[in-house]
Amino acid sequence: MAVKSIEPECIAKKFRVNGIVQGVGFRPFVYGLANRYRLKGKIANTSSGVSLHVEGFREDIESFGRDLIQSCPPLARITDLVAIDEPLKNFRNFTIARSKHPKTVSTLISPDVSICADCLKELFDPTDRRYRYPFINCTNCGPRYTIIDHIPYDRPNTSMRKFKMCRSCQSEYDDPGNRRFHAQPNACAACGPRVTLYDRAGKKVDTPNPVKHAAALIKAGYLLAVKGLGGFHIAADAENNEAVTRLRQRKLREEKPLALMSTDLSDIAVYAYIDAEEENLLTSPQRPIVLLRKRIPNPLSQEVSPRNKYFGAMLPYTPLHYLILSCGFTALVMTSGNRSEEPIAIDNDDAFARLADIADYFLTHDREIYLRSDDSIVKRTGGVTRFIRRSRGFVPVPVFLKSRVPPVLACGAEQKNTVCLTKGNQAFLSQHIGDLENLPAYDFFKLTIAHMQRILDIHPQILVCDLHPDYLSTRYVLEQEKGQKLQVQHHHAHVVSCMAENGLAGEVIGLAFDGTGYGTDGSIWGGEILIAGPAGFRRVASLSPVPLPAGASAIKEPWKMAVSYLYDSFGDALWDLDLPLFKEIDAKRIARIIEMISKKINSPATSSLGRLFDGVATIAGIRTHVFFEGQAAMELEMAAGETLPAFYDYEWKSEEIYKVMVQPLIRAVVRDVQAGVALAEISARFHLTLIRLFADLCGAIRADSGLNRVALSGGVFQNAILLSGLGQALSNKGFDVYSHRQVPANDGGISLGQAVIAAAIAGG
Ligand code: ZN
Ligand code: ZN
Ligand code: FE
Repeated sequence: MAVKSIEPECIAKKFRVNGIVQGVGFRPFVYGLANRYRLKGKIANTSSGVSLHVEGFREDIESFGRDLIQSCPPLARITDLVAIDEPLKNFRNFTIARSKHPKTVSTLISPDVSICADCLKELFDPTDRRYRYPFINCTNCGPRYTIIDHIPYDRPNTSMRKFKMCRSCQSEYDDPGNRRFHAQPNACAACGPRVTLYDRAGKKVDTPNPVKHAAALIKAGYLLAVKGLGGFHIAADAENNEAVTRLRQRKLREEKPLALMSTDLSDIAVYAYIDAEEENLLTSPQRPIVLLRKRIPNPLSQEVSPRNKYFGAMLPYTPLHYLILSCGFTALVMTSGNRSEEPIAIDNDDAFARLADIADYFLTHDREIYLRSDDSIVKRTGGVTRFIRRSRGFVPVPVFLKSRVPPVLACGAEQKNTVCLTKGNQAFLSQHIGDLENLPAYDFFKLTIAHMQRILDIHPQILVCDLHPDYLSTRYVLEQEKGQKLQVQHHHAHVVSCMAENGLAGEVIGLAFDGTGYGTDGSIWGGEILIAGPAGFRRVASLSPVPLPAGASAIKEPWKMAVSYLYDSFGDALWDLDLPLFKEIDAKRIARIIEMISKKINSPATSSLGRLFDGVATIAGIRTHVFFEGQAAMELEMAAGETLPAFYDYEWKSEEIYKVMVQPLIRAVVRDVQAGVALAEISARFHLTLIRLFADLCGAIRADSGLNRVALSGGVFQNAILLSGLGQALSNKGFDVYSHRQVPANDGGISLGQAVIAAAIAGG
């Protein structure tokens, strides 16, 4: 009997894939997948991603479509996939088409990523042709964002354009089955970038192996400027106390913690505790600096992170890092190569000019960095990863917005500046630009804006900046000739930044707690509760203001803040108090501050919660001066005992808005300090009081407004006790609580909020 065979049906389909699918090994992956299912057709890069035409049996195409999503390469991110039926074209094989140069480009560019496991294996394999080659990379790893000058992401548009591939590299690049197929930075020792060692005078050091030589110099206690992925680091042996001390002196960086780099987790475990989640962060392809609890004792220099419970550590992310570390270090200090407060140096001449006073030697290379990018910093708080700085490894991955917005350029705040560009439903935050307080930083800010507009192909119609009249970013916006301009209040931007990354529309109760932000009344805000949404806000509560004596100098010298709070609470009776502050600061200086306050000389009002932390830290005896912003507040947090005991009385007054009275808090802290209560307990009580106070106050605001969603934003929420404690207290009261996960709670997240507000107000 003849069996009638059922011929499987042959069909054709077109897939359009958008997202991060260029420069991340997506096309070779598709090529391999198509071959596995015996599909014919072609794949091409398009302006918005890739487009592929496949022909084969229906079942195979279905499996192919499923695998496309489920097993896509580690760096690829599909945001959008459309499949449509097509007529059969009878392709004979599967091919990869050449890149076209489209007019409008909206594909996503990959961030820079750490060396992958395959490349790392080759790096230390004596039989591999790239054995110990410091620029080894493939489609799954290596530089991206920092070497791109133009789009599309093709070699002539990167800083690899000046290196012509040798025959071996070229054949890998052309082979669709190879891991280096269309790997734009592909190179080897015969054809690619090289490292060179120089002394501080710029004279080349004659050595057969610059990397080993450099490592030996670090071992011997020298400070080396090392050119990395997003800029120069200054490297020192973290176990060498003399070297680390010298680094601090030369960088004029007194106490701010220095970042560490170790070869692997077991080395980090020698000096810090690592839990499973922190391990995932450390080993992720983004390789951020992770804040980890210190082990005590540990073999590292005390000067790495003095008076701090944490170390900031990362694993190597470039082949060059691995090669240096393989010479035997528990950890290297790897701090950004800049003079304090200036942007990190990226090109060789700039490094010699600016770092000659800091570094003894320079290990540089000839692959240019087009856009500098500092290391990112994260910390686990309350079971969630929080950004302190979102930069290398994460930029330019967008934050996806709930709805489409017109193209906006948001210029951020002054501290920890980032800018943000929007396109469709995507918000692209820049890398960390830094504090916009000097000309090099301002130049970097302008360069970043131009660069991002070019590589993201965004032409903003709306420009937005802070309300502060004197910020450089404000001046930049007001000087532009084209575009609609808008100024947004700082704390409004904080709250909406938190809303935007959590996909919230409408209005929320927004707690914006930070150090400084220009208020609509011209005073300095920072302990604000707003009812806010993208289209506007109103202030419903605030700390009772006190004078900020001697203006910004009170930020560096928190004892001045302490005097201001004490004078506010006790008047002239403050002289009768027995506090550590009076032993450290001369009575004449204190009297001068009181005079400034009472005569209202250079003493603007501030309602900042950050300043309250500073003031309380000084009153409790922690310190009278700080070396970096927030240091006193941070040390107050770290001083807190594990258990939260009793809390202080608190009150607020119901005036036009709720006024949270700081006097009862100050009086209670003073009473405890004078009674000899332990610092751990005072700090814990202070934190617990704030938690209860603000949870209660949110209850009152809910009763007035009917709003049940609370957004927490501002730099003060880097305080883990406050963030976790208040989050918990609010949840217990039935609130829906939102905090930052994708962008920093500090001013690094401001540009996102500005962009969304501008889109809502100016975009209609
Ligand atoms: Zn690789
Ligand atoms: Zn080569
Ligand atoms: Fe702020």
